[in-house]
Amino acid sequence: MELRTRLLIGGEWTDGSGRFATVNPATEETIAEVEEAGEAEVDAAVRSAREAFENPKWRHMDPHRRSALLWKLADLVEQNAAFIAETETRDNGKPLFESAKVDIPFVVANLRYFAGWADKLTGDVIPVSGDFLNYTLREPIGVVGAIVPWNFPLNIASWKLAPALACGNAVILKPAEQTPLTALLLGELALEAGFPPGILNVIPGRGPVTGQALVAHPGVDKICFTGSTETGRKVMQTAAAGPKKISLELGGKSPNVVFADADLDAAVKGAITGIFYGKGEVCAAGSRLLVERSVHEAFVEKLAERAASMTVGDPTDAKTRIGALVSAEQRDKVLRYIDYGREDGARLVTGGGRADVGGKGYFVEATVFDEVDSGMRIAQEEIFGPVLATLAFEDLDDAIDIANRTIYGLAAGVWTRDIGKAHRFAREVQAGTVWVNTYNRYDPASPFGGFKQSGFGRDLGEVALQEYTQTKSVWVALD
Ligand code: ADP
Repeated sequence: MELRTRLLIGGEWTDGSGRFATVNPATEETIAEVEEAGEAEVDAAVRSAREAFENPKWRHMDPHRRSALLWKLADLVEQNAAFIAETETRDNGKPLFESAKVDIPFVVANLRYFAGWADKLTGDVIPVSGDFLNYTLREPIGVVGAIVPWNFPLNIASWKLAPALACGNAVILKPAEQTPLTALLLGELALEAGFPPGILNVIPGRGPVTGQALVAHPGVDKICFTGSTETGRKVMQTAAAGPKKISLELGGKSPNVVFADADLDAAVKGAITGIFYGKGEVCAAGSRLLVERSVHEAFVEKLAERAASMTVGDPTDAKTRIGALVSAEQRDKVLRYIDYGREDGARLVTGGGRADVGGKGYFVEATVFDEVDSGMRIAQEEIFGPVLATLAFEDLDDAIDIANRTIYGLAAGVWTRDIGKAHRFAREVQAGTVWVNTYNRYDPASPFGGFKQSGFGRDLGEVALQEYTQTKSVWVALD
């Protein structure tokens, strides 16, 4: 495979209305100039998606054939995994360990999982009053716009397009402007797999230009979006003019709660991966660590030791576990929050500045704050970087209270050997995912999404199919 830099519309590689550079955040070098879709190209993509969606070749394709296409796409991603993973790392700055061992294998597994659903989209037969047969059909929605972020570029793209295609929709994928390259590779592989031209279009571009035009376009039936809560609000506002269907997976400020009775060594490891995996640029990052007061001091000491030993390094080195933040802008935002932590009176335990990796790149040290108060900015706002805010709590009720003191509700972790406590916490915490004695677990079969301002709608799992189908109720008079 080779890098693609043009738009994929209707099965053709075409020019956009301008170009933008995509930069390697570890070296600050431009990897490629990529075409940007302006309004005209968004319109062309919508038209070609509509045409492809309505074409009987797709509309009446046997479901098991759609399944086979998705399976074939998974095979092709797997065969090209090394190149795709390397491209993801160059574009995003994440360690190759993550791209090659976690992200791309997840894409493959996810495509296969949803391939399996394509021929299992059954309706119901409903016992209504009177002499009627009533049954439901589940039909695709039509043209789906998928707008995805830069933190897990191909992975989250697959969370949207695998169920959308399994259900028989046509998709327009808009990757984030910081990380457009793997989405284009996926577009190429979808063509090679045999998806009809126009069923998967890929249109890179900036959010306020390409993303906005896609959400506003009357020919788009549904928008599935993952990104910040702030941008989610704009997407919802623009979509209201339709109105068109939307699902939003937004930000988080997830609590990771450690009780004194937990396996503390395992909890230290879980706290570390909870915040430093993906450089902390993870919507479900365990960015608020709550530790029971009786073990707090000892726990933070162990944690700090481990965090300090995590060297930030060249993402292409197989041993690196913390790579470069995605952009200079993101690095500056993270550094600003580190300043806020200091200003607001939190105690900096380790890290707290830029990391030097050969004098280039947007690297920030693994940073831990202690003595954080729930009202501080570093405990309330999503930082999206390797910065952990540690708080103390007294008992279960106090832990639940602090955990829920946030506008967000994406995920939560709890560490305890007391199963009653674990389940009680899982029930009371306002979060779409709860991890007990583990953190950051994902599976294509397990639903993921937010409570409160972390959004609505679900990715992954059987429930995700509801986002990409609409139900039709059919009444048949039997007399
Ligand atoms: P961040 O602020 O972390 O860059 P965003 O939520 O802005 O994250 O970005 C997520 C995705 O939303 C990206 O693909 C981005 O281009 C897109 N986007 C940004 N602004 C808009 C907008 N106004 N309308 C539609 N999409 C947008």
